[in-house]
Amino acid sequence: MDKATPKDAFQANRDRAAPLLARLKSEGIGHMIDGKTVPSVSGQTFETKSPVDGAVLASVARGHAEDIDRAASAATQAFKAWREVSAAARRKLLHRVADAIEDHADDIAVLECIDTGQAHRFMAKAAIRAAENFRFFADKCGEARDGLNTPSEEHWNISTRVPIGPVGVITPWNTPFMLSTWKIAPALAAGCTVVHKPAEWSPVTADLLARLAKQAGLPDGVLNTVHGFGEEAGKALTEHPAIKAIGFVGESTTGSAIMAQGAPTLKRVHFELGGKNPVIVFEDADLDRALDAVVFMIYSLNGERCTSSSRLLVQESIADKFIEKLTARVKTLKVGHPLDPATEIGPLIHERHLAKVCSYFDIAKKDGATIAVGGKPHDGPGGGHYVQPTLVTGAHSKMRVAQEEVFGPFLTVIPFKDEQDAIEIANGVQYGLTGYVWTGDMGRALRVADALEAGMIWLNSENVRHLPTPFGGMKASGIGRDGGDYSFDFYMETKHVSLARGTHKIQRLGLPSS
Ligand code: NAD
Repeated sequence: MDKATPKDAFQANRDRAAPLLARLKSEGIGHMIDGKTVPSVSGQTFETKSPVDGAVLASVARGHAEDIDRAASAATQAFKAWREVSAAARRKLLHRVADAIEDHADDIAVLECIDTGQAHRFMAKAAIRAAENFRFFADKCGEARDGLNTPSEEHWNISTRVPIGPVGVITPWNTPFMLSTWKIAPALAAGCTVVHKPAEWSPVTADLLARLAKQAGLPDGVLNTVHGFGEEAGKALTEHPAIKAIGFVGESTTGSAIMAQGAPTLKRVHFELGGKNPVIVFEDADLDRALDAVVFMIYSLNGERCTSSSRLLVQESIADKFIEKLTARVKTLKVGHPLDPATEIGPLIHERHLAKVCSYFDIAKKDGATIAVGGKPHDGPGGGHYVQPTLVTGAHSKMRVAQEEVFGPFLTVIPFKDEQDAIEIANGVQYGLTGYVWTGDMGRALRVADALEAGMIWLNSENVRHLPTPFGGMKASGIGRDGGDYSFDFYMETKHVSLARGTHKIQRLGLPSS
């Protein structure tokens, strides 16, 4: 049987994208409010462009406070019925959304590539992961209200959970489709209604999600999507009194702003923020597997990944050899068109982000580090925002390239002496999202895992997500945890109900004095 060559697959991806992009361009992107696609009240729009070649992909409705208000009203109205929908019926609906995502996984993948610059090899899986997020939380609908019975001598003390109300979900532009389902699916499973404000640099698949959810039968007003800028639509969402909580994924500084904006209405917040995650490679590790993981965890997804291991801490005794092998691998990474199945690194999301990543080349040199590989923009197909995968050596932990989140295919190598040294360097940053440890000594692995200031640690592994486990960061990397039952802690209120056995003594006041 004939096998498709990579060239055929590239062309097939282009052929799939072409009619979708033509429709996008002619129809534009509106808000989805109360089950209808609508323009902004102001009539304002903005253009979304492809990072591949700068082509305008669509004119997008630019939301402001009045659009958020309409969406929040729709979500409030819909909440009254949605919270009463039985767990079984909700489960069925969320599975139907997952079916719709799966049916359109190939469309989602190519659109995400063109809108964000992410390579197809990763985006093909991202759409499937998004469907899994919906299925996982669909199956948890039946547990959402579960609580505890903590009886005392004369009471049964029962806790139960109720959905908190309409919530806001604000998402970033890196793997936007998958990420947004991760926040939206548990909210819907909990019985909340949602107003989603996707990132202004990646509106395309957020619109598709809203339309697929509607087609799958999600009632009007349960999932509303308002496009626009963070300081306009995003800010208004965080300030709206009908919105009870904000699930936010994005930069740490934006998280601080949202906390301040939400303070007057006492918003509950859940933050998944930035990272400068260490991967620590000890001399006794399986160095071949460690090398694969090191390369994958910073150069996949264009390095635009919160959990990327952007600092390699390598033990001095093996540093030269390990860096030599690493250098060879980084030099042969394939930068190219995101729809090309051979591509490992596509163009970065936006010219401003490209400029930010490139600014770290000078910063590295100024601080005295060495750019061992890369360090320049890359001349890729379409002339878009390509950058060379970059490896910085000769760094120490106080340098800016060892402290700041670059959020691109940019790895800083820092040698260390021993276990204590590694822990100090790893913890010496403001962030605390993930840590990766490679060692053959299980005792050491556990000691280091315990000492690292990070919400998630992988021992002898890259980041492999398991949906029931807690996902989130410490320090400037976040507040709260996602995943499994942890998501329900955020989207639900825990209510205590106490039932008396009728035996306890009630103090009697106001009796006539004897
Ligand atoms: P960003 O903070 O600039 O924007 C994220 C979202 O917030 C966008 O939708 C934006 O419009 C909105 N926003 C901006 N200002 C706002 C305001 N004042 N009020 C309300 N909303 C506002 O982040 P980004 O550049 O889109 O994404 C990259 C960042 O996201 C990186 O720091 C990355 O580490 C982080 N991230 C974290 C995780 C995690 O799980 N910890 C996952 C993915 C991305």
